[in-house]
Amino acid sequence: MSIERTFAIIKPNAVQNGNIGEIITAIEKDGFTIRGLRLTRLTPAICQGFYAEHVGKGFYPELENFMTESPVVLLCLERENAIARWREVMGATDPAKAAEGTLRKKFGESMGRNATHGSDSPASAAREVAYFFNAFDLA
Ligand code: UDP
Repeated sequence: MSIERTFAIIKPNAVQNGNIGEIITAIEKDGFTIRGLRLTRLTPAICQGFYAEHVGKGFYPELENFMTESPVVLLCLERENAIARWREVMGATDPAKAAEGTLRKKFGESMGRNATHGSDSPASAAREVAYFFNAFDLA
């Protein structure tokens, strides 16, 4: 296993519910180093570019409404095996199916309002980190 970087979002519902601190604590306790961190609000155009693979699917309009409704926290996370490990820490996409102790189980409200995002492959991680962070944003 090697040191790698992944891209994470603390989604609008988790920010609204005051869960930023607990989620960042879980990230740090799991051994991730935070390399990039920004609070922002996504626009529809930025959301379409980010979720390009999902634009046109039935759930996309609801996903865009949700992701643009209020601020999000963007993160670049680094550790050994970061991509797979962050997805384990988040849990399954649907909070109802996520394992006990995972972030989506704890902070997710529904399939759509599922609290966090994590890249699903090295190619996605590279694209997503570069979509939101430039070299000067990454420590
Ligand atoms: N999503 C949804 N309904 C679906 C599939 C996905 O609302 O049927 C949302 C969900 O919030 C998910 C996001 O779209 O996190 C992106 O979907 P993906 O399949 O990439 O899941 P993830 O990688 O986030 O677990």
